[in-house]
Amino acid sequence: MWAARYDDAVKIVRVDCHVLLDPDYQIGSTSSAQDDLLVEIHTDEGISGIGETDVNPWIARACIQAPGTHTMGQSLTDLLMGEDPLRVEELWDKLYIGSAMNGRRGAVIHALGALDIALHDLRGKALGKPCYELLGGPALHDNITPYASLQPEVSSFEAYVESLTAWALEAKRRGFRAAKLEITPAGPYAHMGFHESLDRMAEVIAAVRRAVGDEFVLMVDSQYAFPDAETCLAAIRGWTQFNLYFLETPLPCDDIAGYARLAQSQPIPIASGEWLATRWEFLEYMDRGRINVVQPDIGRVGGLTEAMRVVRLARERGLTVVPHLWKTSLSIAAAAHLAAVTPECAYIEYLPADLSESALRKELASDVPLVDGRIPLPRRPGLGVEINRDALEKFRRAAAQVAAW
Ligand SMILES: [Mg+2]
Repeated sequence: MWAARYDDAVKIVRVDCHVLLDPDYQIGSTSSAQDDLLVEIHTDEGISGIGETDVNPWIARACIQAPGTHTMGQSLTDLLMGEDPLRVEELWDKLYIGSAMNGRRGAVIHALGALDIALHDLRGKALGKPCYELLGGPALHDNITPYASLQPEVSSFEAYVESLTAWALEAKRRGFRAAKLEITPAGPYAHMGFHESLDRMAEVIAAVRRAVGDEFVLMVDSQYAFPDAETCLAAIRGWTQFNLYFLETPLPCDDIAGYARLAQSQPIPIASGEWLATRWEFLEYMDRGRINVVQPDIGRVGGLTEAMRVVRLARERGLTVVPHLWKTSLSIAAAAHLAAVTPECAYIEYLPADLSESALRKELASDVPLVDGRIPLPRRPGLGVEINRDALEKFRRAAAQVAAW
């Protein structure tokens, strides 16, 4: 089924998986930036590629390293051994089909996403080109516009409003054009153990809007806080005054009919997609859920290869794409390369290193630079990000102390 490769092609010889943890992680925080699965794919020519994904890293490592015992559930690592890493899109299909009985969605696809990102990085390095050029460049602009994602980790609602307002002002001062306010005072993923009425979300948005002024773009992420569409509709009735760019994941992830009701019953654009795996889950959200803004997380959706397929589906439907990410500069770089060739992509998510509580975000990799609040077009081969090996070792040790497996 797979075309024979030339014997002089570069060959994959090893896949390393690093489970990483911020030693100061807080179990009550609604932040997945506290851990990471970093993969490195090595070749016989000494070139390697790096990728990461945003799912429990112990689970993701098992998805990649588990042996296979039959044709329908093969080992992701074994499927890559000896392959030519330049055939990135073909390898995605090989991994998907070979692991289909165990995968197709969820953690296996999220893990596959880390491998796919690493393959894109590797291909760029092998060919001496930045990833975006190989995703269908040339670039549309000479820079990419990020929005600052903000979620302070403080222990009272009042302190949260104060910190979030200060961070939004700081983001604006640094040149960001837009910021997203994580506001999760209640619901199944209430941040830092808050138990406040969902009606108080409006107080937070009002305080920040007053501080940053009318021109600054604001988004809100409620992290699945509303139990159903009717409750959400009642709560957000007065929110049009805040002029929000979108409201993200207001409802439980599987309430696709609820998303459709929300998107069609009120004027604030509804955004979702951060947890979805593969283009097929996005089709459900786009066509049945009627979402307005499509948010693939590059790792979780299945990597850059699958994210580009989602982008094409969004394009056919005239929808805006704003990639989700809540990880390190590796994911930021992956999203920036995608945005460089995607006209539907208005912004990419960006966790500012020092407006974030994540040591992984701050230390694991060289940062994606910002100039006047924008990301200059990446010029280096591959993703253009370097890993800090000392930090990697520190985070690896922290993870090993939590679980020895
Ligand atoms: Mg979110």
